[in-house]
Amino acid sequence: MGKIIEHEIQYLKGVGPKRAEVFAKEGLKTFYDLMTYFPKSYIDRNNINSIAELAKTLRMENEENFQNSKLKDINFKTEYTVLGKVINKKLTELKNRRKILGIVISDGSGVNCKIVYFNRSEYFDKSIQEDQYVVVSGYPEPDKFFDVSFVHPELEIIDEEDKDLYQKGGILPKYRIPESFLRTGITQRVLRKIFLELVNSKKIYLDETLPESLIEEMKLPRIEECFKLLHFPDNRQKLENARFRIKFEETLLFQLALISLRKIQEITESGLLIEKNTRNVKKFYKNLPFQLTNGQIGSLKDIFLDFASGKPMNRLLQGDVGSGKTIVSMIAILAVIDSGYQVAFMAPTEILVEQHFNTFLRHFAEYGVNIVQLVGGQKKKLREEIKAQISNGTAHLICGTHALFQSDISFNKLGFVVIDEQHRFGVSQRAELIEMAKKSHFAADIMPHTLVMSATPIPRTLTMTAYGDLDVSTIKELPKNRKPIRTKVVFEQNREKVYDFIKSELNQGRQCYIVYPLVEKSEKMDLKAATVHFEELRDGIFQEYRVGLVHGQMLWYEKEEVMRDFFEKKYDILVATTVIEVGIDIPNATIMIIEDAERFGLSQLHQLRGRVGRGENQSTCLLFTKSYFQYQINKSNLDPKDRKAAIIRLKAMEETTDGFQISEIDLQLRGPGDVLGTRQAGMPNFRYIDLVNDSDIISLGRKVAKNLLADDPKLNKTDNIVLKRALKAYINTGKEFFGIA
Ligand code: ADP
Ligand code: MG
Repeated sequence: MGKIIEHEIQYLKGVGPKRAEVFAKEGLKTFYDLMTYFPKSYIDRNNINSIAELAKTLRMENEENFQNSKLKDINFKTEYTVLGKVINKKLTELKNRRKILGIVISDGSGVNCKIVYFNRSEYFDKSIQEDQYVVVSGYPEPDKFFDVSFVHPELEIIDEEDKDLYQKGGILPKYRIPESFLRTGITQRVLRKIFLELVNSKKIYLDETLPESLIEEMKLPRIEECFKLLHFPDNRQKLENARFRIKFEETLLFQLALISLRKIQEITESGLLIEKNTRNVKKFYKNLPFQLTNGQIGSLKDIFLDFASGKPMNRLLQGDVGSGKTIVSMIAILAVIDSGYQVAFMAPTEILVEQHFNTFLRHFAEYGVNIVQLVGGQKKKLREEIKAQISNGTAHLICGTHALFQSDISFNKLGFVVIDEQHRFGVSQRAELIEMAKKSHFAADIMPHTLVMSATPIPRTLTMTAYGDLDVSTIKELPKNRKPIRTKVVFEQNREKVYDFIKSELNQGRQCYIVYPLVEKSEKMDLKAATVHFEELRDGIFQEYRVGLVHGQMLWYEKEEVMRDFFEKKYDILVATTVIEVGIDIPNATIMIIEDAERFGLSQLHQLRGRVGRGENQSTCLLFTKSYFQYQINKSNLDPKDRKAAIIRLKAMEETTDGFQISEIDLQLRGPGDVLGTRQAGMPNFRYIDLVNDSDIISLGRKVAKNLLADDPKLNKTDNIVLKRALKAYINTGKEFFGIA
């Protein structure tokens, strides 16, 4: 096995002790570390905008009217890059003695652009000179005099030489340059010189880390060539091939690790055999008042295959709100109980626990299932009694929050754990919950089956990575009897019309939700605003109707009472501030009004909308927003980037009710960390894979990993040995070592 030779990089030409120290602080200690410090992006004619062209794009964005534009016409791009020469520079002192720096740049396209720095203006004033060439990246916005202007863009000075290279059609690599690099004079060009030295020194020996057969079959560049191309790209296509290979190798290792860890688990753990067509299951199917959708049938097939496999199930069931996941889980639950085991059903909040508890009571009334729930506020005596039933096995189905697995509860024969609305738990918590649930097994090597249900469809790339250890079943369609919800963005000037519409629906016996935003930052103010609005509505325009209020600061049983009253039609209108408390099924509610809709996240909007459209009557979702959202750019002090995102969210809501499409758009807008609701643990930490855009590479890596392991489970074939070593190193260190086998 080749290894990383601990060359002292300070002896490399152009480095020296001081720079070596700076490199070391960034984790670059060996020649190999340095060699794998790949550029974060590349500059060539393909991704540089001429300032004149950019001005045109921006003008189009401005003038296009919100109502007339379609999602497909809106450019999601939030970063633009221009390259030009500094033709003017001026540091101005403001009245408050703050200084701003204005720079004018020309790229010869006939339109100039302006750059402004408010912060650190003196630093930039010192480092940027007239006649220098610079690359500027950021989100441009128009100002009074310039068609294109950037405020606080990323800016990089480039050498005359590099500019020539670029102008001849070359490709310039762009490395991440931390401030410490700059302070010791390590610029882009210096870095490149160091890399050239390194490549020429022949001090690094790279071994091929992918099997020969794979390289040939997939026509991948070899590792040596790959490294060279990444640092010194000489043509776009070759560069793309090299980047593809690195990403592919990264995702391949990740998937191999996932699958092989899973395999180990399968060898050491057995699952309970659960019968498929028990008497009660058959009866339940017969009593269903509707036909199951194809997605529901497919999911049940998956689940029962797992139940018959002798291995513990680890499955994610995803489908939009209202797609009928609960029914699917109920059929599985019945089968498990019929086979003589207990089932734990976990939901994120007590009100959801109670709702499910009641649903189960209703549906399982004639099946002899003993259902209990553990929630806060129960009398001690009752609680003790329930606990006794759980441990002596007379309780069959136990509903609760995650407290189920944290406290002193001992199960008698736990065979199946269902975790509902898992998106509220977050990825790392999900793993913990499953771990805890598994500790409740009743025989050392027999693990309960687990089914995780999520109403937030998960984008494809994340299903394959963050959820890569789970098998996935998907319900794509809603039950046939549903009428698609109509969604419309409405501007302030149409408020009266909306109120008339609400009244006409209420007069026909329907109910309505009015939701106000509540964001953590301004929680108190928001809550106050919502309460004021509630009073205004109750005493004013809707005084002839019954209006209720529910918000997050209420105690859980207060919230529950309001929700129950709404369910029992004691209110016509429910004013609400938070999403979570509305997680209840009220088919008679057909109108969802969302105020200040631009302030909500996309999946949040989609979840809220899912609270209507649950009955047979046509439902409507109206998104109120400020009039300035009618136009794409002008008339507000909002950050243009934020505004664009808000417009995309509103457009997406109008144009689609498909949760999967929504989740993909949300991923593009917010990135994987925010979509998963957890930035830290549980997220694969890819260095080269981009979870927003690389879904094809990820699914290819997954496929190839599966095929490789199916053909050679222990990767013992001669050809695969290199991969086996790489995988071992990857599992041990969590890092991939390209070219070190
Ligand atoms: P989810 O948990 O996926 O949001 P639920 O399981 O709560 O959805 O189902 C929502 C409603 O749709 C329930 O009232 C349920 O009885 C009903 N339902 C489920 N499946 C079907 C179907 N195939 N046809 C008609 N109605 C269905
Ligand atoms: Mg549900």
